Amino acid sequence: MNLKGKSALITGAGSGMGRAMALLFAQQGADIVICDKDLSSAEMVKVQVSGLGARVIAIEADVSNPEQVNVMVKAAFHEFPKIDILVNNAGIGSDLVPFRRMTFEQWDRMIAVHLYGTFNCTRGVIEKMIAQKQGRVINMSSVNGLMGETLAVHYSAAKAAIIGFTKALAKEVAHHGITVNAIAPGVIGTPMIDRLGSQVVDSLIKTIPMRRKGEPEEVAHLAAFLASDHASYITGQVISPNGGSYM
Ligand code: NAP
Repeated sequence: MNLKGKSALITGAGSGMGRAMALLFAQQGADIVICDKDLSSAEMVKVQVSGLGARVIAIEADVSNPEQVNVMVKAAFHEFPKIDILVNNAGIGSDLVPFRRMTFEQWDRMIAVHLYGTFNCTRGVIEKMIAQKQGRVINMSSVNGLMGETLAVHYSAAKAAIIGFTKALAKEVAHHGITVNAIAPGVIGTPMIDRLGSQVVDSLIKTIPMRRKGEPEEVAHLAAFLASDHASYITGQVISPNGGSYM
C-alpha cells in the first residue's frame, strides 16, 4: 500500500484506530495531519509518527465545531500543499442508555461529533480535492450503524447516517476522481471499548464468531488499502471488519 507523496488528515488520531492509521499511513510513506480534541494525545502520536520519518503536524480541534475545524483545515493546508486522504474517524463511545431515558443532550452530542464532525471536516477539504481531481474520503461508521444496537439508538443512528452520507457524496464526487467509502468495524480493542468494562466486553466477545476483538491495526490496514491507488475503482462502499459478527 504505497502512500508515498500523499498527505492524510486523520481525525481522532490521538488514540485507538486513528492512531493506528496515522502510524501505518506514515510507514507507507504518507505525511500526516493528526487532529484530536485532546492535544496532548495528538502530540504523543506526532512524536511516534515523526520517528517513522514522516512529516507530521498535530492540531487540536473538536470536529463538531465548524470554527475549530476551519482553523484546523487552514493549518493543515498551511503545512501541506494538498490533502489527498481524509479519514473522518473521531468519535465518542455510546453511553449505554435506554431510548426512553435518552436526553436531548446525549442525542445531540452523538449526532454532533459523528455526523456534523464528518460534514464539517469533509466540507473543509472537498473543494481542494475537486480542484486537484483526486482524493480519498474514508468515514468511520460502525457495525451498529448496519444492524442497530440496543441502548445505543443515538450512536446507531449517527453511524447509519454516515453510511447515507458516504453513498450520496460518493455519487456526487466520483467524476472528480474522489472516492468516498465507509468502514463499519465490529468490536475493536481500543480505549473506547475498554471503557465499557471487562464484563461487557467479555459478553460482546461471546457473540463474535471469531471469539475475539479486532485489533486497531487490522482496521488500519483496510483504511490504508482504501486510501491507496489499489482501491481506485471502489467507491460508495461500506466494508465491515467484524470477525463475523454481522454478515
Ligand atoms: P478512541 O480510542 O476513543 O479514539 C477516538 C479519538 O477521537 C479519541 O482520541 C478522542 O479523544 C477523539 N475524539 C472524540 N471526540 C472528538 C471530537 N469531537 N473532535 C476530535 N476528536 C475527538 O476510539 P476508537 O475505538 O479508535 O474509535 C474510532 C472511531 O471508530 C470512532 O468513530 C468510533 O465510533 C468508531 N468505532 C469504534 C469501534 C470500536 O469497537 N472501537 C467500533 C465501531 C466503530 P478523547 O479520547 O479525548 O475523547
